[in-house]
Amino acid sequence: MKLDITPISKQPGESLPFQFVTGWSEIGSEEDAVFEDGIEVSGRAVNVGEGIYEVSAHVRAVYEGECARCLAPVQVPLEFDLCERFARAGSEQNEEWYPFANDALVLDDFVRDGLLLQAPLRVLCKPDCKGLCPVCGCNLNETPHCSCEENARPTGPMAALAALFNDEEEEV
Ligand SMILES: [Zn+2]
Ligand SMILES: [Zn+2]
Repeated sequence: MKLDITPISKQPGESLPFQFVTGWSEIGSEEDAVFEDGIEVSGRAVNVGEGIYEVSAHVRAVYEGECARCLAPVQVPLEFDLCERFARAGSEQNEEWYPFANDALVLDDFVRDGLLLQAPLRVLCKPDCKGLCPVCGCNLNETPHCSCEENARPTGPMAALAALFNDEEEEV
């Protein structure tokens, strides 16, 4: 996403609208978070003078994660605003702001940083997801009573006796 700011570079106060559609593979890195392609970025760059540009953007993206309990894929639509400044590379201000060179603002890092900040840390496929069976790994949402649960429950005459003792202990 490269924005040519030549049309506003001579005029402080002027602004330039832009609209991009990009993909996570184009702007992302080896971060864990993943977003669907078709990330929409629209906004404007304003020449605030002295080689500094303020970029505000509205971003629409879909986060692709997995349920923290059952590992099912989960999509989370995100929509948020970003506003940051860009300063000419080599100038004093560019330590805290995004640098640019050759009258072109490359918006990739700006959008990627915003997406990573918005990415949810933990997602669930549904609030009451039952997760996976710790023994066999089956999905307990699909198999509410896996055989592990039955095997773990003691059966037979000794179990009945044990249950009796437990009841007596509780009563004492
Ligand atoms: Zn789940
Ligand atoms: Zn199981």
